[in-house]
Amino acid sequence: MHSELIKLEKTFKPSILTKIDDPWLMPYQIELWMKRDDLLHPVISGNKWRKLKYSLDHALSLGANTLISMGGAYSNHLHALAYVGKVLDLKTIGFIRGEQPQILTPTLQDMKAWGMELKFVSRSEYRVLRQYKNWHDLPGLKPGQYWLTEGGAQALALKGVADLIAEIGFPYTTLCVPCGTGTTLAGIIDAVPEQVSVLGFAALKNAGFLTADVEALLSQSCNNWQINWDYHFGGFAKINTVLTAFIENFELKTTIPLEPIYTGKMMYAVYDLIKKHYFQPGERIIALHTGGLQGKRGFT
Ligand SMILES: *Cc1c(COP(=O)(O)O)cnc(C)c1O
Repeated sequence: MHSELIKLEKTFKPSILTKIDDPWLMPYQIELWMKRDDLLHPVISGNKWRKLKYSLDHALSLGANTLISMGGAYSNHLHALAYVGKVLDLKTIGFIRGEQPQILTPTLQDMKAWGMELKFVSRSEYRVLRQYKNWHDLPGLKPGQYWLTEGGAQALALKGVADLIAEIGFPYTTLCVPCGTGTTLAGIIDAVPEQVSVLGFAALKNAGFLTADVEALLSQSCNNWQINWDYHFGGFAKINTVLTAFIENFELKTTIPLEPIYTGKMMYAVYDLIKKHYFQPGERIIALHTGGLQGKRGFT
């Protein structure tokens, strides 16, 4: 690991396991925990650090001076990347989906302040960028430039996700994770003990592509995982009062903050599935808090 990354990681807080002490769970005999990757760092939080870590190390080992990637106007991935670029003194370029908004979102404002060059691209151009998966795939890449595909979805990302699984020191039956690109899910499937069921929750509507995308990332195929499509609440970043009330109530009961795009929907889903007796009594479920709390500012 590059010394700059070791130095950076030393400033991180541990990702602890928090038991959800909610009396509501008692009659179902379900033990529910959260793995708190949200606590790692206020900006480079959650799965974004896990996914970036080994790609950054690779980029630094190649002597890269510029990191280039893509995302939406609220992207936690680009937000984390811009911050890392500032800390490591690397230039960063972000391709942003859609037209430049009149007023930059808080996420984009941060990215700009940290020195990221923002390039707004049409939805069709954005779709073209998606097909460049490997670090050297982006056409026109100059020496010293390192490309990270959408959501940091490359094999090295899975290695970082495996680290978080290695930190869990007791047995459990199910691991729940929210899914955007499914990269984090793939890393988890690769790393969990085989008797653990892995349950991913799609944050996007019509995300049928996820199954194939996840399978393409896996180092070997296995069947202990499933994607649930029922809790996107109408589509990516769509919210309603039922969801926001759930999040508020959960935060009051547990003091664990959630955001409404990924972790809020996942925890809503986990509670709903418990209510519907989807899980067996006696199960120990761990839900991965993938962080992303900065994105909440777009909703308040
Ligand atoms: C990016 C993100 C995800 C989605 O991760 P993928 O690896 O793309 O599936 C989930 N939760 C949060 C908080 C995120 O920021």
